[in-house]
Amino acid sequence: MTTPTTATTATTSPTAQRHEDPVIRVQHLRKAYRDKVAVRDVSFEVGRGEIFGILGANGAGKSTTVEIVANLRTADGGRIEVLGVDPRRDPAHVKNRVGVQLQESTLQGQITPREALRLYAAFYPDPEDPEALLQLLGLEERADTAFDDLSGGQKQRLSIALALVGRPEIAILDELTTGLDPQARRDTWGLIERVRDSGVTIVLVTHFMDEAERLCDRLMVIDDGVVAALGTPAELTAAPDGRRTFRLALPPGHSPASLGLDALPEVTDITPAGAGWTFTGTDRVLPAVVVALDGQGVVPDEIQTRTRSLEDVFVELVTRTEEKI
Ligand code: ATP
Repeated sequence: MTTPTTATTATTSPTAQRHEDPVIRVQHLRKAYRDKVAVRDVSFEVGRGEIFGILGANGAGKSTTVEIVANLRTADGGRIEVLGVDPRRDPAHVKNRVGVQLQESTLQGQITPREALRLYAAFYPDPEDPEALLQLLGLEERADTAFDDLSGGQKQRLSIALALVGRPEIAILDELTTGLDPQARRDTWGLIERVRDSGVTIVLVTHFMDEAERLCDRLMVIDDGVVAALGTPAELTAAPDGRRTFRLALPPGHSPASLGLDALPEVTDITPAGAGWTFTGTDRVLPAVVVALDGQGVVPDEIQTRTRSLEDVFVELVTRTEEKI
């Protein structure tokens, strides 16, 4: 028997993801770097006040997508609307209203957080108070420390502060917590929630499933330049078609076939897994198997139920795409 393909519950149709008050609308985005197609066909909307996550393996096309939204790159095809306008046609409309924290942004080594924030604030007509940002980001005590002497977490928080200094309506944060220790990551998550609570829409590019699951209202998984899944974390991890899975270990001398478990109508699939088997079936599969075992006086060695994590979903999606190639 083979493992059933666990189809994603999420939709890739942009029309099915219409949002009431979209601040970003992207339709059929396409971008190639010479002969390397980075983004093949990506469509999504981000609603005002959302934390929208973009997940994907290395090279999937995440950064290219957000850089086009931020008007830092030009698309080869597709429609892009940011705050109601095409950023290419009206760059000024977008420039001061979208804050961007890009991967690996570095500053000149001797500049301090206070100086950097004051400098960046001068570029905007109505900037945030640098002192308030230092406080919000927990950087007051390091405000006069040279950039080179800041810890990784402090540099990261400074780059978020710089993305926020222009009082953006949309903040695009790429690889928010890469390189941070677990405590710094959690602190940063709390900070992002506070920023969202202040009314900013956040687009978060991340490799981390826990981060996406914890922070994002909706997620898009990009795989090889196309949208592999789009939905809330709950939608993405829901059992597809109401199917349930559990693992069962039987006492020596028994097998699912010898007990007739493979013939139960609730069971659709049984695959060997370690010392036991993984059962897949309808939402009644677990009680059906337990009753059948009990009827034959067999006490299972182990029963383990589990729900899919976002990581399971991600691996399924990426594997399925590789199989297609
Ligand atoms: P990562 O998680 O590694 O940052 P990503 O999902 O953000 O990856 P992109 O940075 O958008 O992916 O890159 C998509 C593809 O386009 C990759 O194969 C990358 O090597 C390629 N690419 C990105 N930028 C350029 C460029 N300036 N010139 C040529 N190829 C590029």
